[in-house]
Amino acid sequence: MTLYRATMMDVPGDPFAEEPAGLLAVESDGGLLVRDGVIVERGAYADVRGSHPGEEVTDLRGGVLLPGFVDTHVHFPQIRAIGGLGMPLLDWLHRCALPEEARLADRSYAEAVAGEFLHGLVSSGTTTALVFGSHFAEAMDALFDAAAASGLRITAGQVSSDRVLPALLLTTAEHARDEGRALIERWHGKGRLRYAVTPRFSLSASEPLLDVCEELLQTPGTWFTTHINENTAEVDQVATYFPARTHYLDTYQHHNLITDRSVLAHNVHATDHELEVMAEALAWAAHCPTSNAALGSGLFPLRRHVKYGVGVALGSDVGAGTGFSLLKEGLQAYFAQQLLGPAGYPLTPVHLLYLATGAGARALGLADQVGDLGVGKQFDAAWLRPQPRSTLDVVLGHATDANDALAKIFALGTPADVAGVWVGGQQLHSAGEGPMPSPCSPYSRPQEAA
Ligand SMILES: [Zn+2]
Repeated sequence: MTLYRATMMDVPGDPFAEEPAGLLAVESDGGLLVRDGVIVERGAYADVRGSHPGEEVTDLRGGVLLPGFVDTHVHFPQIRAIGGLGMPLLDWLHRCALPEEARLADRSYAEAVAGEFLHGLVSSGTTTALVFGSHFAEAMDALFDAAAASGLRITAGQVSSDRVLPALLLTTAEHARDEGRALIERWHGKGRLRYAVTPRFSLSASEPLLDVCEELLQTPGTWFTTHINENTAEVDQVATYFPARTHYLDTYQHHNLITDRSVLAHNVHATDHELEVMAEALAWAAHCPTSNAALGSGLFPLRRHVKYGVGVALGSDVGAGTGFSLLKEGLQAYFAQQLLGPAGYPLTPVHLLYLATGAGARALGLADQVGDLGVGKQFDAAWLRPQPRSTLDVVLGHATDANDALAKIFALGTPADVAGVWVGGQQLHSAGEGPMPSPCSPYSRPQEAA
């Protein structure tokens, strides 16, 4: 057993359902006793130490220990496409994202990207992710292989499309069925890996392909994810491809793809009826605020999601999103609601931590295992310890209480402040590790010797 000593904060409840002020659980000098990766005791350090005087202590004082972040929407093949600014969604896809995604047809390219991608997640404090995969089955093998070795909790699937996109990225319904079945067989339920059925969006998916998605989703424990209502031009085009459907959500619901195992990315332009249907189905929305801002997609109607009872979690949406940090996504979510004025939802720091942790765990059906640091949960954690004299270090030193400290962490925290990351009690990342080897460019450090 290991006893972790730290200042810790988490949000075990749902601040959209209960008064947020009372939900922030804080141990200013806390102890977490972990056995076989599971938290078995939690309390003031002195108390936990008193009843377990012989256990090995890992001292994490001088920072803040948070639950590991849960990213509910992030694209594996797009890490190198981050930063393509100045375009709306459909232009960005065709000029930035899809040309890069086509390069993953090469297995060795996909392996390099998989390594960079997983390092991007863990080094930002993300321990669990619902990952939008590649169009290529071999690239998915590369991702799952690397994910299994990484120790991260990854739910991912091959992306499918059979129209609209460049030819290299297209499949057929039959081929998608064969490759999907084989990937499920190889990877679903192996260790911390699960499979997600992932049509890119109904704009690029015919009815027979969506039928195949329905078939693949019959495998118990598989998840469903796709895009919806991101951009008004996209919503209009979907309507022309599906004249018989009531709305965008109906293009998926018609194939029984909207269930409590569904996570729909964006939903910026949702209609009231779509929100009603999602709420009834217990489907979740993955809110991706930096992506929405970067592509000018719109300001997320969080208040309407809450009103209808639709669960919302955060996604980084790399590569339209501007990085892997869910601290940045939390801050941007707050900004978006502020900019909506009276129509916005007044987010508190407690909401932000919940959106980045417990909400994602619920969206992925993993809330019995992760999302907070309660007894019985897996020890999945991110330790934030800012560099001495960094601005975050300075302002944390002047925080008036835990809520204020949390606000400062979301305002200023970056991956550079993530000093340690654990999944299931296993430390997967610690500060001081060098960057992954990367191709030399005028803007990156020279590749370091191993
Ligand atoms: Zn996306």
